[in-house]
Amino acid sequence: MTPLAMRFCVGCGQVFDKLQPSDSGPRWVAAEAYREKYGLSLNDLHLIADACPPCARVLAIGRRVVLPETCIPVLT
Ligand SMILES: [Zn+2]
Repeated sequence: MTPLAMRFCVGCGQVFDKLQPSDSGPRWVAAEAYREKYGLSLNDLHLIADACPPCARVLAIGRRVVLPETCIPVLT
C-alpha cells in the first residue's frame, strides 16, 4: 500500500484530517484518534511536517515573521 501523505503539526503533533471533513471542513485532530479512526499504522503514513493554525502563529512569532502591524514597536 502506498503510504498516505499526511500533514502533521510539528508543534502539537496533531494531524490534518482531510479524509473525512467535518461540517466546517478539514480539521486538525489528535494523531492517535486519527489512526484509530481509519485503522492506520505509522507505516501507512507519509508524514509531512506542517503546523496547525495555532502552532503556526507561535512558530511565526519565534521566527519573527509576524506581520509588522501585529507587532508592538520596541523602543531602542
Ligand atoms: Zn499544532
